[in-house]
Amino acid sequence: MRTTIALFLLTGCAGLQGAWKAGTARADITPTESIWLAGFGSRTKPSEGVRQRIWVKALALEDDAGQRTVLVTADLLGFNRRMADFVAAEALSKFKLTRERLALNASHTHSAPVTDTVLRVAYPFGPEQEPAISRYTEKLLRQTVDVIGSALSDLQPATLEFAQGNTGFATNRRRVRLRHLPGPVDQDVPVLAVKGADKRMRAIVFGYACHATTLSDNLVSGDWPGYAQADIESSNPGAVAFFVTGAGADANALPRRTVEFAQHYGGAMAEAVNQVLKAPMEPVTGPLNAAFATVDLQFADVPTREQLQSRLSSKDLYERRHAQYLLAHWDKHGKLWDRYPYPVQVWQFGKSVRMILLGGELVVDYALRLKKQYGWMDTWIAGYTNDVFAYIPSLRVLKEGGYEGGGSMLVYGQPSPFHPSVEETIVDQVERLIRKVGVQ
Ligand SMILES: [Zn+2]
Repeated sequence: MRTTIALFLLTGCAGLQGAWKAGTARADITPTESIWLAGFGSRTKPSEGVRQRIWVKALALEDDAGQRTVLVTADLLGFNRRMADFVAAEALSKFKLTRERLALNASHTHSAPVTDTVLRVAYPFGPEQEPAISRYTEKLLRQTVDVIGSALSDLQPATLEFAQGNTGFATNRRRVRLRHLPGPVDQDVPVLAVKGADKRMRAIVFGYACHATTLSDNLVSGDWPGYAQADIESSNPGAVAFFVTGAGADANALPRRTVEFAQHYGGAMAEAVNQVLKAPMEPVTGPLNAAFATVDLQFADVPTREQLQSRLSSKDLYERRHAQYLLAHWDKHGKLWDRYPYPVQVWQFGKSVRMILLGGELVVDYALRLKKQYGWMDTWIAGYTNDVFAYIPSLRVLKEGGYEGGGSMLVYGQPSPFHPSVEETIVDQVERLIRKVGVQ
């Protein structure tokens, strides 16, 4: 009799495999004062109002082994390493959340405030803007830590489901001027649906590989991902929508520059997500295995001090600002850096979907290569995660030349373009983490 009960209990436990808990939280990060908006070097003054409120959101997941993992998404150009390190250290000390179980992804909206030193060489402002940027960044970091805590406090029984849709507005932007180049894009729309025990939708996580650069005026907004999230939330009452930016560094939504276009792309994205939600989706089981590591990316050609000094009289404005920026670093630290610790993260959900979460402005080749390698149906590639510090060109893009592998290094304040080993270095590190999490 005892044996029968024991067997029954074991079966009961097995039946619970894949049981999740989920919690969500959000904080309004709309600036409360005029502040320089991020992403474009062409703006000449700080913000002049708010078109749409912007948010930092957290989704906490607990698998059946009790392992807790938190995805943070934000309507921001990007979290950099200092910001991510701060949030990760706080999350570890306050909530015992380990580094591999925290991901910070930014929508890359070009209508959110400048944070910390992200893309600093791009902007024409002087030290008079620093106090507002510093106030905003510090408040944002506190809010980010708080939403992580609130999402963890909100953990309730949940089920997870995954499927992918498509929408077609991402355009390979390198072809706009260079029409002879190939124009790969990733138009997949991966969707993770999180439902409560009552079957009601609680969270909808969706991804797309495309810049949020529809709008370039001086009003705060989430750009098309902001409209997409708002639309998804209004058609799924009670659910929080999370946008995860993919490998969209070389993709733009085109045409652009009107509010109507931003709303149109947001609406198209919301419709793509809602169609996925209406169709059958694959149940997602635990455990959620996670791994995180940094791998050093080498720069190709770090300038000497003499080279930087001669660039101070360059005719190119960005070359001059870049030289000033690096010389200031040199004066402070006695040298430049010749490599960069690149963050690579993998989350494997049971035997189903895996998220490969990579830093920087990731070009589309990484998504296409890694999905081919690990499975088109259940591999989700995110860029702009944990540290937005440069464009991450593939070897193809580096060889083609142009902004993503070249000029963008100036505005990001990096010493030079990456060494051609950049792509293999990243792909090899992904493979090491994939083995660690035990992808089926
Ligand atoms: Zn960008």
